[in-house]
Amino acid sequence: MTSAVIVGSGPNGLAAAAALARAGVSVTVLEAADEIGGGTRTSEAILPGLLHDHCAAVHPMAVGSAFLQGLDLGRHGLEWRLPEIDCVHPLDDGTAGVLRRSVAETSAGLGVDGKKWKRLFGKTSASYDELAEDILAPLIRFPSHPVKLARFGAPTTLPASTLSRYFHSEQGKALFGGVAAHAFQPLTRPLSSAIGLGIITAGHRHGWAVAAGGSQSITNALAAVVLENGGTIETGVRVTSADQLPPSDVVLYDLDPAQVAGILGDRLPRRAAKGYNKFRFGPGAFKVDFAVEGGVPWASESARRAGTVHLGGTFSEIAATEQDVWAGRMPERPFVLVGQQYLADPQRSVGNVHPLYSYAHVPHGYTGDATEAIISQVERFAPGFRDRIVGKVVRTTPGFAAYNANFVGGDILTGAKSIPQLVFGPRPTMRPYDVGVPGHFICSAATPPGPGAHGMCGANAAERALRYLERSQ
Ligand SMILES: Cc1cc2nc3c(=O)[nH]c(=O)nc-3n(C[C@H](O)[C@H](O)[C@H](O)COP(=O)(O)OP(=O)(O)OC[C@H]3O[C@@H](n4cnc5c(N)ncnc54)[C@H](O)[C@@H]3O)c2cc1C
Repeated sequence: MTSAVIVGSGPNGLAAAAALARAGVSVTVLEAADEIGGGTRTSEAILPGLLHDHCAAVHPMAVGSAFLQGLDLGRHGLEWRLPEIDCVHPLDDGTAGVLRRSVAETSAGLGVDGKKWKRLFGKTSASYDELAEDILAPLIRFPSHPVKLARFGAPTTLPASTLSRYFHSEQGKALFGGVAAHAFQPLTRPLSSAIGLGIITAGHRHGWAVAAGGSQSITNALAAVVLENGGTIETGVRVTSADQLPPSDVVLYDLDPAQVAGILGDRLPRRAAKGYNKFRFGPGAFKVDFAVEGGVPWASESARRAGTVHLGGTFSEIAATEQDVWAGRMPERPFVLVGQQYLADPQRSVGNVHPLYSYAHVPHGYTGDATEAIISQVERFAPGFRDRIVGKVVRTTPGFAAYNANFVGGDILTGAKSIPQLVFGPRPTMRPYDVGVPGHFICSAATPPGPGAHGMCGANAAERALRYLERSQ
C-alpha cells in the first residue's frame, strides 16, 4: 500500500487527504494546532452556544463544488444554508446595492445598471458549473470550455476601477467594488476584477451559502471521510524540518511556500527555493466577533436580511482605502466585511443574542487596534449598533499569524493576489503543485485556484500526487 503524509489540516489539506485516502493510499495528516481545520473552524468564543466562524464563513464556491459533492459530505452532517439576500452594500444616503442569488432579481433592483448586471453575469452564471472545471483548476492549461472561459475571462483582466465605470449608479459600482475588494489588491491593477467576478458568478449560480452549525462542519465532514477510509490525523505536531516526517511515498504541504522552503531546506532545487522565498504576502485582516443583542439596526432594510454586508461607502472610497492598506497606511475608515451567518443558520444564536462576524482590511503586519474603526463603520450604516454589543473578541494580524502560520502578517489569503501569483501560484511554473523534489507537493491556498474553503487546491494536488504514485510503481 502506498502512503502519504499531509502537513496541515486546513480545508485543502483535508481535501487532499480525503482524495488520497479514497484512492486507497494510507494517509497521515499532521496538524500544528490542537484543533483541525485551519481557516475553517468555529467555536463559542463569547457565550456558551453562540457560534463564531474563526475565518472562512461564506462558501459560494464550496456549495456547488463537484469535488465536495463527490465526497458526499452530507453523510457526515454537512448541510448548506442560504440567506434570504446574499450581500448588501449600503451607502451613506440610505440606499444600497443588493446582491441576490437570482441575476434577474439583482438586476431588477439595480435600476439603470440592471441590464448591464444581467449582461455581465447572466450567461456566465448560468454556465458556472462548466466554467468551474476551468477556473478551479490551474489557469495555465488547455481549458475544457474555451468559449465559456473566454466570455468569463475577458472582463477579469481589467482593473476593477476600469470595470466599475461600466456601471452608472453608485449602487452598482459599490456592489461590484465591495466584492472585488475580497482580492485585497489595489483596485487599479490589471486582473483586480478577477476574484470579485468569480465570487459573484458562483454566487448567482449557487448562493452565498453558510454551513449549518458553522464552517467547522466542513472540516468535520472532510475529516470523517479521511478517517472512514483508514486515515489518521495527529494534532499538536508542528513540522519545521523534513527530518520530522514519517516515511511515506508522497508528502503534501498545506502550507505557505516560505514554510515549505524552510522544511525542505537544501533539498529544494535552487529555482524553486528562489521562487518560494520571493513569494509575497498581502495586507492583513483585523477581526472582531461580536455578541449583539437584537441584531444590527441597519438603516438599510435589505441589510437586515443579508448574510454578508460590505462596509466602505462608494467605489472610489473603497479603492482609496484598499490602496492605502496595500501601501502600509491604516485608513481611518477601512473596508469592513460583516457576516450575519445566523440569519441563514439560526442555531448559532442564543435567544435574542446573535453572533456578528466582522473583519477590516488593514496593512500587512498591522500592530494597532482596529476595533473602534470597525465599530464606527458599522455605526455609520447602523446607528445604535454600539449600544447593542454585549460581548466581543478580537483577532489582530499577529494573532492570525499565531493562530495559523500560513497567515503571515495577517494575510488571510495565504499570499498576495498579484498577477503572477494569481496566474501561476507560488512560482512561475506550469506545475504549480510540484515543489521540485520528487514526491513532494504543495496544496495550500497559495496554489491555484487560490483561497477559499473549497478544497480545490488540495484536490488538484492530490490528483498530481496520485499520478506520481502511478508512474513510480
Ligand atoms: C478572517 C477570514 C475570513 C475568511 N473568509 C472566507 C470566506 O468567507 N470564504 C472562504 O471560502 N474563505 C475565506 N477565508 C479563507 C479561507 O479560510 C482560506 O483560504 C482557507 O482556510 C485556506 O485553506 P488551506 O487548507 O489552504 O490552509 P489553512 O486553512 O491556512 O490551513 C493550514 C493548516 O496548516 C496548519 N499548519 C501551518 N503550519 C504548519 C506546520 N508547520 N506544521 C503543521 N501544521 C501547520 C495550520 O495550523 C492550519 O491548520 C477566510 C479566512 C480568514 C482568516
